[in-house]
Amino acid sequence: MIPLFDSHCHLHDSRLDGVRDDVVRRAVEAGVTGCVTCGTHPGDWDAVAALASTDDFVVRKAFGVHPWFADGLSLSWDDDLLSRLERFPDAAVGEIGLDGIRPPASNAVPVVRRQLSIAAELGRPVMLHGAKALDALLSEFRPFAGRIPSCVVHAFSGSREQLRAWLAVGATISVGAAVCGSARLRDMLKEVPPERLLIETDSPDMLPRGGIPAIEGTRLNQPSNLTLVAKALEPHDSW
Ligand SMILES: [Zn+2]
Repeated sequence: MIPLFDSHCHLHDSRLDGVRDDVVRRAVEAGVTGCVTCGTHPGDWDAVAALASTDDFVVRKAFGVHPWFADGLSLSWDDDLLSRLERFPDAAVGEIGLDGIRPPASNAVPVVRRQLSIAAELGRPVMLHGAKALDALLSEFRPFAGRIPSCVVHAFSGSREQLRAWLAVGATISVGAAVCGSARLRDMLKEVPPERLLIETDSPDMLPRGGIPAIEGTRLNQPSNLTLVAKALEPHDSW
């Protein structure tokens, strides 16, 4: 059985303010042992820093600038990132990457390069976002591949060729709600060694079909819905 650890979410997201303790309690009740909460811009790094593990729920932190927020950063954004990472020696660099869903930020490439170089310099894992930009992101990642200890491609939903290319540079593949509705993706994932396959919710986004929202009447996802992703992958056990 694939471990119930939410490899990529945003538990610190302000949309969960007021219900976060309930969200964690429901996750624990569902058997989820912890999560990585990923910052997306300097404005949410304080909230990431403020979250702590409890006895029954591990919270790992990642600090980074998501490609949607690469424009309009202060001149010292990367110094701020470095100091956060120095303060939290276990933290990863994320969520960072390139995006092909929205019109690209004009600074997306220099911002991801700088963050990859910081991850290489400090020897930190990276949590990558490459939605509809997996090839361009791989070109940026490749020069750093040997110096970054581990890399997770979050919410993978690319082609079989892209999957193989990322596996070839040592990536770990993380999948979320998309596997619940895509037999093609589930079939492709048979190529991923089990120890390099993670599952995620991307909470509070990406509520899966049949998922229970964090707040009734909303579409806000929560880590307890990780069980639906794990269930979709169950045949994985019998390979
Ligand atoms: Zn995310």
